[in-house]
Amino acid sequence: MASQVKTVVPPSPGPSERSANMRAIQRRDTSPELALRSALHRRGHRFRVDYPVKVSGRSPRPDIVFTKRRLAVFVDGCFWHGCPEHGRTPKKNTPYWGAKLARNVERDREQDRMLDEAGWTVVRIWDHEDPDTALKRVEDALGR
Ligand SMILES: [Zn+2]
Repeated sequence: MASQVKTVVPPSPGPSERSANMRAIQRRDTSPELALRSALHRRGHRFRVDYPVKVSGRSPRPDIVFTKRRLAVFVDGCFWHGCPEHGRTPKKNTPYWGAKLARNVERDREQDRMLDEAGWTVVRIWDHEDPDTALKRVEDALGR
């Protein structure tokens, strides 16, 4: 039983947040990201998942990457990425969460800028978006 207890590790910026987010996503087997991936796959699109794109000496890892088209797709969790409809700062530890979530959003915009400057198209999909709309937005960006 003791071995099942999760240790709470203080978050450090960057990869650990991302992997915590990924773990949260992977716990649900019908996440919007998975739904979008399988819809794209069914329609014959081929892409990389969680693929590091090297730009400006950094390696942002969009959730879905079309390397030839230079299209990067992020599926952003409403909480972690500050969705205007559902993003909110928790009432407990507000200053901590406020700063942390602000950093996430800041990093998102920084990644958008780096990718854009390197000639990539960036599509960001909110977790709450309708799957058909999400698919359409990606396909529009792919130029179909
Ligand atoms: Zn939302």
